[in-house]
Amino acid sequence: MKQLEEKILAEGIVLSNTVLKVDSFINHQMDPVLMKEMGKEFARRFQHKKITKVLTIESSGIAPAIMTALELEVPMIFARKRKSLTLREGLITAKVYSFTKKEENEITVAEKFVSPNDQILIIDDFLANGQAALGLMEIVKQVGAKVAGIGIVIEKSFQDGRQRLNDAGIQVESLARIASLENGKVEFVKEEALAGGM
Ligand code: 5GP
Repeated sequence: MKQLEEKILAEGIVLSNTVLKVDSFINHQMDPVLMKEMGKEFARRFQHKKITKVLTIESSGIAPAIMTALELEVPMIFARKRKSLTLREGLITAKVYSFTKKEENEITVAEKFVSPNDQILIIDDFLANGQAALGLMEIVKQVGAKVAGIGIVIEKSFQDGRQRLNDAGIQVESLARIASLENGKVEFVKEEALAGGM
């Protein structure tokens, strides 16, 4: 998505060879106009999938997920991150190792909001090693619902999350695909590589 790539080039800060900071438009301050466009684009790419619910993980997944859900006219659910749970009844849980925080979180979703008939679209802000997406998939699997696809705002294609999700046979759509963050520079995956690889 050109608009997103331009924003990344203009405002993204390369923190290391593996971490990109986008806190001026996604992770802290948010750009609602861009979010709305991203929601439309995800809805377009998954329009044939009969999505009944959008699922994400708090907090940075919420904005792109709600915009997508608005466009698809379906509810959006965000998995909560909690360290200890006092109330376990009626909750579905999965473990997720956080790439940025280097800690394991238990994520939870209330059982009553997901049913086996649901066709779920998972949305997240970043794809690194795929832990967040796999944790959300695990939750969907526990309910017996179907993962209809995964939408990612920024995929770091040099990490192995994409391969893991492809191996699981899921349609993955990323709005920006980063080939490298080396030397403090953002390089996107080239169009030709995309044509051959997707
Ligand atoms: P994964 O679970 O795929 O290993 O990592 C994805 C999660 O880690 C996302 O939910 C996102 O919050 C965070 N993350 C991973 N890489 C980056 C990054 O380069 N920048 C930012 N801001 N967040 C990231």
